[in-house]
Amino acid sequence: KEDKKIISNSIRDIKDFPKEGIVFKDITTLLNNKEAYQTLMNHLEERYNSYNLDYVAGIDSRGFIFGAALADRLKVGFVPVRKKGKLPSTTVCEKYELEYGFDEVEIHLDAFPKAKARVLLIDDLIATGGTANAAAKLIKHVNADLVEVCFLLNLTFLDGAKKVREHAPVYSILDI
Ligand code: 5GP
Repeated sequence: KEDKKIISNSIRDIKDFPKEGIVFKDITTLLNNKEAYQTLMNHLEERYNSYNLDYVAGIDSRGFIFGAALADRLKVGFVPVRKKGKLPSTTVCEKYELEYGFDEVEIHLDAFPKAKARVLLIDDLIATGGTANAAAKLIKHVNADLVEVCFLLNLTFLDGAKKVREHAPVYSILDI
């Protein structure tokens, strides 16, 4: 509980970013605060230590920061789920709807060399759930075992976790 307060207090609201009417949750003030960043990583390490994971997969781009740090703590591999056009080798791709238009995420076809790999998917925040849902589908398409999907922040009023839960359990540290 005290941990959550430290983490929560380190995240700031930026009004009208990236456009008018949106309140953006800015996590850069968590990352530059060593107490908050350590508290968060300790919390994640304690939770996932016993999960027997083979890989942590992080979503482009803030999911890379927490995902790679967690993978190192757990001594497992890290796999990036990237926005379209960034990965150099053969990929599988998943399109998803945005408020206006579409976006695509992709993963390397051979991202998880271990058979039936136990994978945790992580991102900083879930809003509509479109991004995480597409990323979860990709992990399943390449035959990995998606053990859980983890977020630092869940904007619960948008109920994005609902569709992600069709693929795996969802865990969020802070529900807003
Ligand atoms: P969704 O696909 O769930 O609607 O949007 C989630 C994605 O957009 C995540 O990759 C997340 O990083 C990014 N995102 C959307 N809104 C915010 C926000 O307010 N703060 C941060 N840090 N990321 C956001």
